[in-house]
Amino acid sequence: MILAALIVFSVAVLAANTGFATGAQGDVLRVRFGGDADRTRIVIDMERTASGNLVEAGEGGRVVLSLSGVSAGRGVEGRGLGLVRGYAMRGAGGGAELTLDLAGGAEVERRFLLPPGDGVNHYRYVVDLKATDAVIAARPDRNPPRYTASAQARTRPPLIVIDAGHGGHDPGTLGGRVNESAVTLQAALTLKDELERIGGYRVMLTRTSDVYVTRSRRVAIAREADADLFISLHADAGNDNTTRGASVYTLSEQGSARAIRVATGRQDWHADLQLPGRDPSVDRILLDMTQRATQNRSAHAARILLTHLEGSGHPMLGRSHRDANFEVLLAPDVPALLLEMGFMTNPDDEQLLTDESGRRRLMRAVAQGIDRYFDQPDESVMVAGAGQAGGGR
Ligand SMILES: [Zn+2]
Repeated sequence: MILAALIVFSVAVLAANTGFATGAQGDVLRVRFGGDADRTRIVIDMERTASGNLVEAGEGGRVVLSLSGVSAGRGVEGRGLGLVRGYAMRGAGGGAELTLDLAGGAEVERRFLLPPGDGVNHYRYVVDLKATDAVIAARPDRNPPRYTASAQARTRPPLIVIDAGHGGHDPGTLGGRVNESAVTLQAALTLKDELERIGGYRVMLTRTSDVYVTRSRRVAIAREADADLFISLHADAGNDNTTRGASVYTLSEQGSARAIRVATGRQDWHADLQLPGRDPSVDRILLDMTQRATQNRSAHAARILLTHLEGSGHPMLGRSHRDANFEVLLAPDVPALLLEMGFMTNPDDEQLLTDESGRRRLMRAVAQGIDRYFDQPDESVMVAGAGQAGGGR
């Protein structure tokens, strides 16, 4: 099945690269968008709780929401998506004020505050917009657009969580000279080093020594830290020792369905969402929306990383970008990649992964690929993903 999706990845104010620092007064962290031209969700991430008041509700082509209890910091503005053409978050009257310029007729369907919980450690204020009936009726094609778009702007440097696969009593693939768990740890430390060399990123590792970390804990680390990208490092094994090359995996449709089940199946999820009526099917749709946006973002990151690795001359496995159902990638709201760096069972790859300079070359290319992903002020891209996961894990 071909999954076609349009991503509008708009990092309007890439404060990450300018060292924008949030103050201690309880700032708005960032504004995120998800959804499409029928329904658009705006999530305001905040360091503390706030109460919202709708100043304008869309009648004049604008929605204005005042938030008391938080500061807008230096403010942030940029392009929206779906029903929102552009937005600005500014300080106003001792609080913050979000102005949404609408792309068409839209109304506020609901808005609510989410306290920290379910793996997220900050407050979120959520506004859901829906197209007015008049707008939908006026469309020549009554079918909803078949794309999901996603955009976000940050007020602090992106956080990359690097996951060194395996560890402790789980050595992973056994190579001729060294285990996968040792190779992934060295690679993770080198990638951290290379990202810090580029600068403008916060970097966190799921493990820094030869210890066992459960897969659910690895995902929880990324969610609790509110990571902007999760990258899990592994090395493949194959029956044929001539098979070599790197490959990049993202979450499959099947995997995302499972992530949704996992999240909606949790008792505290409904409590966390605080939706009017607590309608589980509505929760599911909203989570699905988040998941699709995350999936698109992951696929986008995978393409950029692949292109960069190919360009750097690193040997790649044929048709490298695969969709996999790896449990380690199952966080519904954190874009995630799994990089199989090469084959432990291939002598050339093993040499490349265990040799300090070979490893550094590869991790430098990975860091540059990640940097390229975050350094896209306005990117529209068609993403096509299909097929079955192959190879080992
Ligand atoms: Zn592995």
